[in-house]
Amino acid sequence: MDTLVGVDAGDTLTYLDHAATTPMRAEAVEAMLPFLTERFANPSGSHRFARSVRQVVDEARDVVADAIGCESGEVVFTGCGTESDNAAIVGTLNRHGGVAVCPSAEHHAVLHAVQHGGGRIVGVDAAGRVDLTDLAATLDEVRAGGGHVSIVSVMAVNNEVGSINPLAEVAAIVREHAPRALLHTDAVQAPCWIDLRTITPHVQLLALSAHKFGGPKGVGLLVVRQGAVLDPLLQGGGQERDRRSGTHNVAGIVAMAEALRITDMERVADNLRIELLRDRLVDTVLGGLDDVTETVPRDAKVVGSAHICIADVESEALLFLLDEANVCASAASACASGAMEPSHVLAAMGVDRRHSLGALRMSLGATTTEAEVDHAAQVIVESVRRLRGGR
Ligand code: PLP
Repeated sequence: MDTLVGVDAGDTLTYLDHAATTPMRAEAVEAMLPFLTERFANPSGSHRFARSVRQVVDEARDVVADAIGCESGEVVFTGCGTESDNAAIVGTLNRHGGVAVCPSAEHHAVLHAVQHGGGRIVGVDAAGRVDLTDLAATLDEVRAGGGHVSIVSVMAVNNEVGSINPLAEVAAIVREHAPRALLHTDAVQAPCWIDLRTITPHVQLLALSAHKFGGPKGVGLLVVRQGAVLDPLLQGGGQERDRRSGTHNVAGIVAMAEALRITDMERVADNLRIELLRDRLVDTVLGGLDDVTETVPRDAKVVGSAHICIADVESEALLFLLDEANVCASAASACASGAMEPSHVLAAMGVDRRHSLGALRMSLGATTTEAEVDHAAQVIVESVRRLRGGR
């Protein structure tokens, strides 16, 4: 893709918010177009026109299964990552009863679903990774209290700070302390950075969302490994072998498959290139300002993540100045009862308020350029100095 254009014509955008959404891959846009135009048939139909489109959906299923490292029949297409997470957790609780367990730094699509079902929340370490000792103790506690844990949900990569959870170790703990529980992973932030084939063997359920890896918004999938049985979230026409009713988003599915195929193919090269850019960005900011911390050590997170905490600055004020300079980033702090509150992730990690209120999430992606990171670093240093009154 050429330079990103901002809201006003002529503006050049510096886009460092790829964890929120990343631009579509050109190949994915091209792949979806025929299914928005002449090949519009409903794949559930019985005529040849419909059957030819159903075949395309099944081919897309094969493509994503290959990149994920699962069987095609284990892929259930959904409407987004949030739906996939809810389908995993609510679907398990509805089918098997019991208790859901997740760490405190999960995305709200998991956290709220677990809390809504009366589940248990376990702690995370200072890098935002699940506290394995607390996890084991919580699983034991539920069992000792006469309950049973039916699902444990641990994200592959944290959307805010980029930390990577040790899913092999999580799986071993679940097998030992709650052998009947399903292990779900919200892998929505993983595909650009981690080969999904290294994650899939450890879990029974895995959620993805197309718009995080170059596909369109509003389409996702849930991998349901053989042997895992859930109640469907949606009742209706029985599509996806009764696991997810609703007419298929054919164009979205086709584009998601193409985006995942390319992401998988280019991942190693992209990681090498983007790691250099991320290091350049963060090193320049750290070199230009006092009292800025890297929220998670680089060896504990994905290379696309550049999360920093800037003392004595409010994220909102900084984001305003960045926005003025056409730099897109995010903070994820929320305004609760009129006062700024640190995000639930930073609070769970134990980051002190002086730093967490100045959180800045920059996330890089396949389109990120050296010019973008250099511009962003310069604007950040100047803006923070301005907000700190010249320091
Ligand atoms: N899980 C994680 C880790 C995410 O980052 C997101 C998106 O922000 C979601 C779930 C929700 O995905 P979607 O936007 O497709 O509903």
